[in-house]
Amino acid sequence: MPMDIRLNDILELKKQHPCGSKEWLVLRVGADFRIQCTGCGHRVMTPRVKLEKSIRKITRKEDV
Ligand SMILES: [Zn+2]
Repeated sequence: MPMDIRLNDILELKKQHPCGSKEWLVLRVGADFRIQCTGCGHRVMTPRVKLEKSIRKITRKEDV
């Protein structure tokens, strides 16, 4: 079962970015994800399989 990750979700990863932030914004979903560090704005493309393993928590701001 793939994890439920959607656009604009905030992902808390297990490993923190060199800038000190662990939170990443989801910019694109698919076989490859594009995520942006909320600390420094750095963007990366990463395969879903690899990304799922590094996620600690998913925060959805759009939840009502
Ligand atoms: Zn960063």
